[in-house]
Amino acid sequence: MTVAGARDAIRAALQPLMHDEVVPIRNALGRVLARDCLSTIDVPSHTNSAMDGYALAGADLPSDGVREYPVVATVMAGSRQPVQCGAGECVRIMTGAPMPDGTDTVVMQEQVELVDGQRIRIDARHRAGQNVRQAGEDIAAGSCVFAAGRLLRAADIGVMASLGFGEVSVRRRPKVAFFSTGDELRSIGQPLAEGEVYDSNRYTLYAMLLECGAEAIDFGVVRDDPEALSRAFTEAAAIADVVVTSGGVSVGEADYTKTILERHGEMSFWSIAMKPGRPLTFGKLGAATFFGLPGNPVAVMLTFMQFVRPALRYLASGNWPQTLTVPVASAVDLKKRPGRFEFLRGIIERHDGELRVRPAGAQGSGILTSMSRANCFILLPESCAGVSVGDAVQVQPFDTEL
Ligand code: AMP
Ligand code: MG
Repeated sequence: MTVAGARDAIRAALQPLMHDEVVPIRNALGRVLARDCLSTIDVPSHTNSAMDGYALAGADLPSDGVREYPVVATVMAGSRQPVQCGAGECVRIMTGAPMPDGTDTVVMQEQVELVDGQRIRIDARHRAGQNVRQAGEDIAAGSCVFAAGRLLRAADIGVMASLGFGEVSVRRRPKVAFFSTGDELRSIGQPLAEGEVYDSNRYTLYAMLLECGAEAIDFGVVRDDPEALSRAFTEAAAIADVVVTSGGVSVGEADYTKTILERHGEMSFWSIAMKPGRPLTFGKLGAATFFGLPGNPVAVMLTFMQFVRPALRYLASGNWPQTLTVPVASAVDLKKRPGRFEFLRGIIERHDGELRVRPAGAQGSGILTSMSRANCFILLPESCAGVSVGDAVQVQPFDTEL
C-alpha cells in the first residue's frame, strides 16, 4: 500500500458526521460550520470615512492650483445627526463617521492646509471618491459569507460578530477513544523498573487530538493480553467515532492488534510503504473507524499527522484537507533508495536570507526529541533516489513560526 493509496482507502471508508450543535461564536474556533452563513445586513451598514480628514463633494475638488473651503460642521464615528454639506463647503470628519449629505470624497487631514479654525485649503492631487468605504463593500446583505463545511478561524469569528451573530451552528466534534498497548509501559507517577518506559504516546496523541478539535476519550494503558485488549476494543468502539491505539501492530509475539481487529471488526490494510510508520493498521470496529498506530513515538506522530488528522477533518467537515507543502533547498546530501516514501524530521532555517532545510539530527523512530527539534517533515516520495545539496525538496511545515 502506498501513502497515497492509504489516504484514498481511508477516505473511501469514512462517512462524514452530519450532526449539528449550536455554540456561542467565542467557542467556535476550529469548529466546522454546519450551514451556509448568510448576511442579513450590509457591512459596513452605512457609507463612511476611511480617514480622519475633511469630507466634500468630489466635483468641488480643484483640478489645478489650490482652493479654499469653509468647514461647516464636524461628524464623529457613531454620530446620527444629519449633516448637510453645500457646494464649495467641507465637513470635518473622523474615521468611521457616516458621510454627510452632499459629500462623496474625503481628504486626509495631513494633506490639507489649515487657514484658521473655520477654513482649509486643498490642492489638486486628490481624486473624487477617495478614502470612502461604501455601504456593503465588505459584505452585501443577502450574500453567503461562509459555506457549510468551513473550518472556522479567528477572522471568521470576527466576521460573524460584524454580522451581529452571537451563536453559530457547527458540526459535532468527532469522538476519539485512544489507548496505549504494551506490558513495558508505566504511567506517570509510578517508578520505572528495569526495561520499562513511561507511556508517552497517550500524551502526544491527547495533545494532537486537542489541536485538531476532536473530543478525546482516554482509555489508558492496556496490557499485551488478548482478553484485556478485546475488552478495550469493544468498549472503545461502542462510544467513539474513531478508535486510535498505539503499539502492538508489528510482527512480534506480543503484537495482538491485527488479530483482535480481525476478530471484532474488519481490517482494511496493515502495512504502508513508508518510513517511519510502516505497520499502520486501518479498518472498521463496529461502526467506529479504527487506526492502529505503530508503537514508536515518532511513527505515532507521523502517522497521526498524515492519516488520522485529515481523516478527523474529513469526518467533521466532509472536506479532505490538502496539507501545505513547499519546495526548499536542501542544506545537505540526503541518501535514499527508490521504493518507499520517507519522512525525515527537518529544520527549515534562514541562511544568507534564503530558506534551506536540514535533517533534525538522529532519525530513529524512537527518538521523540527529533520531533520536538524539527519544524517540518522533509518528504522523499517513493521514486526519490537521493537528494544532492542545493536540490529543492518538498517540506511540510508544522506551523508558521521558524
Ligand atoms: P510495539 O510496536 O508495541 O512493538 O512498540 C514499538 C516500540 O515503541 C517499543 O520500543 C515500545 O516500547 C515503544 N512504545 C510502544 N508504545 C509506547 C508508548 N505508549 N509510549 C512510549 N513508547 C512506546
Ligand atoms: Mg508493544
